[in-house]
Amino acid sequence: MFEKPRGTRDFTPPETAKHRFVERAFRRTAESYGFREILTPTFETVELFKARSGPGIIDEMFTFTDKGGRELALRPEFTASVIRFYLSDLRSAPKPLKVFTLGNCFRYEEPQKGRYREFFQWNCEIIGGPSLEADAEVIALADAGLKSVGVKKTEMRIGYIGMLRKYLDFPPEVQAKLLHLLDKKRMEELEKAMTDIGAVDKCEKVCSVALLKGDGEVLDQAERLLGDAAKESVDYLRRLGKQLALYGLEDFVYDLGVVRGLDYYTGMVFEIDSPNLGAEKQVGGGGAYSLADILGGEAAISTGFAVGVDRIVLAAEQEDVKMTPSPLDAYVIPIGLSMRAKAFEILKKLRVEGLAADIDLVGRGPSKNLDYANSIGALHCVLVGEKETAKGLVALRDMQTGKQAEVKVESLTDALRSAKRQSIK
Ligand code: AMP
Repeated sequence: MFEKPRGTRDFTPPETAKHRFVERAFRRTAESYGFREILTPTFETVELFKARSGPGIIDEMFTFTDKGGRELALRPEFTASVIRFYLSDLRSAPKPLKVFTLGNCFRYEEPQKGRYREFFQWNCEIIGGPSLEADAEVIALADAGLKSVGVKKTEMRIGYIGMLRKYLDFPPEVQAKLLHLLDKKRMEELEKAMTDIGAVDKCEKVCSVALLKGDGEVLDQAERLLGDAAKESVDYLRRLGKQLALYGLEDFVYDLGVVRGLDYYTGMVFEIDSPNLGAEKQVGGGGAYSLADILGGEAAISTGFAVGVDRIVLAAEQEDVKMTPSPLDAYVIPIGLSMRAKAFEILKKLRVEGLAADIDLVGRGPSKNLDYANSIGALHCVLVGEKETAKGLVALRDMQTGKQAEVKVESLTDALRSAKRQSIK
């Protein structure tokens, strides 16, 4: 017996169905917003992720050396790959470039519920768009994606990292350290670090601003606390609020403590939580960033987000969203060996006509076959018997009601289709 690697999961058919349900909803929503899907490699050079996130990322990744001595890493996220791809091949594409991707990512984390070493993300980016409109479009898309799954109990928190960057106007490494401590809410260490650089007077205000969360009123408070350093950011967030209203999106809070872990975020930042999920409640996050220049290309305004598919499945389960797989339309049962050829003929026809159909592969008797069909959730059984076949008929059994009726073979597909329509209603 072998065990699966720590932090990875196998997905049973019903679990896979839930996963695919969420992915389908995300894909459809992204397409309805004019985003197009791209695919990037599952592994990239270690250097790419180091350039994006700093050398510390090495400890958080699955890295390996290939047979040619190249240092590679399984992707921990998508943005670095998307921007690398943009710089190498998509730079001349018409702007704004709206792309999304769905797939697995790998992080060397301590596994727990909602946190895995292999997990799945839905990632959307707008590259080269005017920032306010692009920011609103990605926030609206993230929100619409969750709603399209049926997940309603979420909290969207929107902030602006540019405000704290402007107020903590120190050399980049110092600023990065302070923001990191703020991100992790390590306030005592933050106070010590600010005392060390002789800026303890700013500490109280920074901490107060980082705690501001609520409606437009918190923007006024931030302005009162930070003065001019907050003006531009606050104006931006007010305009963003108006832009989001054009999407009918008013169900969000301003949260000036949203920092996000990475240095490349420049302006708007947002996070989405599902309060039902306990410790790992963050289901998505993103913001406006500048990465193309960090990866050695020409600067391009970008904004994007990543939503965790696994956590959305958990959130949807909590909210009793039905994520049932498409059931089998028909299970074909030959009554006796002599009917197998006819049964296969009918099976083939159903499959060609686009219905999901299966047949007994092990030669069970009719009643065992009905039990089996029940256990796999087939909507109908098609019983192919000698007497009925002679009259061009089959018996069609509705597995939910147990009702059985004779149907002409040539009308079987229509009968199954109309039953399916009824069951969807
Ligand atoms: P991040 O790139 O860290 O902002 O992650 C974006 C989203 O991916 C998070 O909000 C989570 O929903 C999800 N996520 C991140 N890491 C994990 C993980 N180890 N396991 C499951 N989901 C994750």
